[in-house]
Amino acid sequence: MTKLQILAFFFQKVGYNKGMNTSEIAFPLQRSEVVSLLQQHKISPTRQRVEIAEFLFQRPQHLSAEKILEGVTSAGNRVSRATVYNTMGLFASKGVVREVLIDRERVFYDTNTAVHQHLYNVDTGELVDVFDVDTSNVCLPELPEGLRIIDTDIVYRVTSR
Ligand SMILES: [Zn+2]
Repeated sequence: MTKLQILAFFFQKVGYNKGMNTSEIAFPLQRSEVVSLLQQHKISPTRQRVEIAEFLFQRPQHLSAEKILEGVTSAGNRVSRATVYNTMGLFASKGVVREVLIDRERVFYDTNTAVHQHLYNVDTGELVDVFDVDTSNVCLPELPEGLRIIDTDIVYRVTSR
């Protein structure tokens, strides 16, 4: 591990789930389950949103919008790049997926919305979960009066030795 990069979005410490992979989801989700997942998150289940979510929730995964576009279209669905980007923005803002920002050009959408941390391999571009990070050891900033931490995102950037 060459560098510890802390992307800290200090909103709330919502807790830490050891070994948790997907909160309550049993993969793969069937179409009807995808529809109710979207409805639970107050998202109207349009055909394209359902097709995108169906592709995402086949398994726990971290995907870029481009990979999602590729997957959804190769499954025989017709969606535009703009629709995929807009839909993923919507899914992230409603908490259907978790957005993991590596840099401006690299955003991953994570089907596991439970609190967990990541390893980003700069050689392969792959993002994987790590669950044994003790986030209580991460230095916390002196918060201005009236603020509380609601989330901490840690991405360890790794490369081959
Ligand atoms: Zn993850």
